[in-house]
Amino acid sequence: MLQGHGIEVRVLDKGHEEGGRVCTHGTEDGLSFDHGAQYLTIRDRWFRRMLAPLIEGGTLVRWTGRLAVAGPDGVRPLSDGEERWIATPTMSALPRALAEGLTVDTSVRVTGMRREGSRWSLEHEHGLYDGFDRVVLAIPAGQAAELMREHPGLAGLRSAAEAVVMEPCWTLMLYMPGVFPTGYDAAFVEGSPLSWAMRQSSKAGRPSYEAWVLHATATWTRAHWDDHHLDVTEAMLEAWHERGGPSPRAVSQTMAHRWRQAGVDPHARPRSLGDDEAGVALAGDWLGGGRVEGAFLSGRKAAAGVLRSLR
Ligand SMILES: Cc1cc2nc3c(=O)[nH]c(=O)nc-3n(C[C@H](O)[C@H](O)[C@H](O)COP(=O)(O)OP(=O)(O)OC[C@H]3O[C@@H](n4cnc5c(N)ncnc54)[C@H](O)[C@@H]3O)c2cc1C
Repeated sequence: MLQGHGIEVRVLDKGHEEGGRVCTHGTEDGLSFDHGAQYLTIRDRWFRRMLAPLIEGGTLVRWTGRLAVAGPDGVRPLSDGEERWIATPTMSALPRALAEGLTVDTSVRVTGMRREGSRWSLEHEHGLYDGFDRVVLAIPAGQAAELMREHPGLAGLRSAAEAVVMEPCWTLMLYMPGVFPTGYDAAFVEGSPLSWAMRQSSKAGRPSYEAWVLHATATWTRAHWDDHHLDVTEAMLEAWHERGGPSPRAVSQTMAHRWRQAGVDPHARPRSLGDDEAGVALAGDWLGGGRVEGAFLSGRKAAAGVLRSLR
């Protein structure tokens, strides 16, 4: 959003590719799972405008699978009028497309910030990036707080970030041979350790094999954070079986992944935070109301603040 305003932007990301929690996990056997964000909403008109070329080009398409609520009383279809969008052929196609034309340095974990005169330098495991007029920390709240720790001038921003509670999520990716008739392609799961189940092949552009992603609730994840991944796998498969999923015996491959910061507590916050004098802005889903769209709205607000401060 800053690019194109005569500003040179450099994105540093510790991931091996850009995208953060909008990502896809590929296994050695060639299976692929969207194990972070499952879909996105496009309610905001600016978000829609920015994504229009991706919709026209087919990178973003509507998800048209069968949605349900799977609760203690059984499975009931859900049609809530929400448009759910997915990237093709995998969710990571979205950040990849959005990063086109940007200078993105991946596998760079920023470990500290140094103020030198009116400029910032960013330390990372292998060296230093220097000479930045502004720094936008578009990362989860706890990590932003950690990077600001040594700067008393950023105490206000730091304490705002420290007050945020990010929600963890145990995620189970699984494969089974054949086809299992669940009666739904994705379900909000109620009264269970699980919160969500989604059939990967219900998403356009994915292979047809029977692969699913299950999410545990934040409460259950916290209670089982330190459990062995095989115990977590067993418990999540059993919970799914109780909500219309197959017998755990039918599942032949599983991978459990622990997200420390999947979502965010629902407290209302300003969309972005910044200190113009210090030249630091904060953005992320934790400021934008959660989720992919919230992260965009927050980033847009932070970018507008940076532009204003540079004028
Ligand atoms: C399991 C799960 C399911 C979800 N389901 C949905 C869903 O269905 N719909 C939806 O809209 N949202 C969903 N979300 C939430 C959505 O993924 C996030 O809200 C959104 O991706 C947040 O974007 P962000 O840019 O704020 O943060 P992130 O996506 O976390 O991006 C932050 C980036 O900063 C990098 N980074 C962090 N610290 C450093 C550092 N020190 N140095 C360098 N780089 C750093 C990370 O590598 C990452 O790439 C889900 C998330 C998870 C985990």
